[in-house]
Amino acid sequence: MRKLIRTVLLVDLLRGLWVTLRNQHPKHIYTEQYPAQRPKVAERFRGAPRLNINPDTGETLCIGCNLCALACPENLIVVGTERDPKTNRKVLTTFTYDTSRCMFCGLCEDACPVDALELTQDFELASYTREGQIWDRQMLEEGPRPTQYKS
Ligand code: SF4
Ligand code: SF4
Repeated sequence: MRKLIRTVLLVDLLRGLWVTLRNQHPKHIYTEQYPAQRPKVAERFRGAPRLNINPDTGETLCIGCNLCALACPENLIVVGTERDPKTNRKVLTTFTYDTSRCMFCGLCEDACPVDALELTQDFELASYTREGQIWDRQMLEEGPRPTQYKS
């Protein structure tokens, strides 16, 4: 009987409307001012990839071991290397990363033994073409450069 009275008098609807009205005060309204103010993402967020370089020498940290490519379930990383005839060491020649197929699982980053490959906190990965989604070594080494807007 009580339930019937509540239903007829629209008690639940009115209570819901009251909650809505109570929160109309400007102090309760929160609007993210993106892109003028960039939102802070979670500490462990995995976004745009970067191939780290040694800041002192400018040389890549990547040793061309191919472990990231082997760890990737999407097979979207291609590492190109050649042997240095003097040192007989592998030298990185090319590195491509297809961001359009990446699910940002972080397995490649975890597999890298020298912390050369890193998934950064940048989340703006849009491009106008599919080709634009394939990042080459230069783009990866420069890292993401998000456009800074002013309010
Ligand atoms: S984050 Fe995952 S899917 Fe993306 S490249 Fe790394 S291993 Fe592959
Ligand atoms: S795992 Fe690291 S060092 Fe090895 S090829 Fe990938 S980025 Fe380079």
